[in-house]
Amino acid sequence: MKKTKIICSIGPSTQKWENFKGLVDAGMNVARINFSHATMEERKIDEELVERANKELGTNIAILFDTKGPDLRTCTFDGDYIDLVEGETIDIVEEDVLGTQERISFNYKGILKDLKPGMSILVDDGFYKLVIEEASKDKVTCRIMNGGKIKSRRGVCIPGIKLDVPFVSDEDREDIKYACEHNGDYLALSFVNCAKDIEDVRALCKEYGREDMLIISKVETQYAMDNLDEIIDATDLVMIARGDLGIELEIEKIPSIQKKIANAAKEAEKICIIATEMLSTMQENPRPTRAEVSDVANAVLDGTDAVMLSSETAIGKYPVETVTTMNKIIDEIENEINYNDLLLEFSRKDKTDIPTAIAYSTVDSANRINANAIVCSTMTGLTAKKISHFRPSAPVIAISPIEKTVSGLTINYGIMPMKVPMLESTDEIIEKSTSVAKEALNLQKKDRIVIAGSFPLNVEYTNFLRIEEIKE
Ligand code: PEP
Repeated sequence: MKKTKIICSIGPSTQKWENFKGLVDAGMNVARINFSHATMEERKIDEELVERANKELGTNIAILFDTKGPDLRTCTFDGDYIDLVEGETIDIVEEDVLGTQERISFNYKGILKDLKPGMSILVDDGFYKLVIEEASKDKVTCRIMNGGKIKSRRGVCIPGIKLDVPFVSDEDREDIKYACEHNGDYLALSFVNCAKDIEDVRALCKEYGREDMLIISKVETQYAMDNLDEIIDATDLVMIARGDLGIELEIEKIPSIQKKIANAAKEAEKICIIATEMLSTMQENPRPTRAEVSDVANAVLDGTDAVMLSSETAIGKYPVETVTTMNKIIDEIENEINYNDLLLEFSRKDKTDIPTAIAYSTVDSANRINANAIVCSTMTGLTAKKISHFRPSAPVIAISPIEKTVSGLTINYGIMPMKVPMLESTDEIIEKSTSVAKEALNLQKKDRIVIAGSFPLNVEYTNFLRIEEIKE
């Protein structure tokens, strides 16, 4: 069983049941619905697909909604794309237009006043570059430096320009409400700049009855990098959103920034996701490049909990093959990891609380006896998260009677979350843990399981550790 989780962005390529099921069978753990692209009809389709998979296939696919955030995007184009011809000019106008080869508009009104001749405008992860030649208050004329076919509503970056808008727009507020009301498990926030942005969204989720919403902060600006510590402190998960990050900052800084954020997340016991262009060529080709294979493997070695696919699964030609490939790369590199060495790294750190002590001992015992599984009975998910944090060699099954605890563990490294009925005694916990692990992992006689749980039920933290051998 692979331990690093796979998040797939859902889109036109995967909105049919057979393709969606293909993603699930190939190893998808989380379906990402991107508010920047998904229409109301599409959101509904995506949600129904997740529901159907979980019902028919017995999976626990979680839903991740991703906000637009205060981002700058192109308008919709006539026929859904335009051809930017290198050397030609194109106008950017203030009023909303249906984009053509001659003129387009952006989603944010008021930007034109900040634009000056000589500035660069980077479109669609920086693939297309325009340079401003003339600027007035209602029209800017740009020379096309790098051209090509570009689709509607692509991201735009103008280095050095910070949008002077509130972090949560009216549209984002509606989308956050939607995520809360439509059973979202995770809410990713685009263009987070500081802890206050996260706190504002948490307050909104609470207002919409979803205090338990898990917040993913997408780090994709220099401002976010400057405030990394407070963002990691305030968030539940952090996403290294390399698409926008690679435009806002010099692209050669991405590998070191990736390691810096992954380490900071690990230090703070927060979950890390590495995103964007992981298997980009598979959008058009059935095979990845060697460099892409290395990128996915290195993300695993950097200690990420999850990797994310964007266009590859949303609009690519080979969505299922992409996830299959990603799964194989993860599997291969995880087999090379020395989990005893990983645990040694943690043992040097001072941690004195009881859940940490139990989690560490669980992983240490499991590694020492070469256990086939760890089972953690958990109400809040805390001990399961801590066990995952110590990166055990054995797969971790987290059992809980609470639905949101189960779905909230989907992205954590190595955890297979499962909903079970409320267990009333220590004996029941041990019995259930053993039977669940036996069935899920096809365990055989003499296979070993390390069980962590708590009893009595109202105790605040996990307080026992038990080792069982499969009898029959
Ligand atoms: C990114 O920029 O890398 C990212 C994940 O965000 P989005 O796909 O929303 O542009």
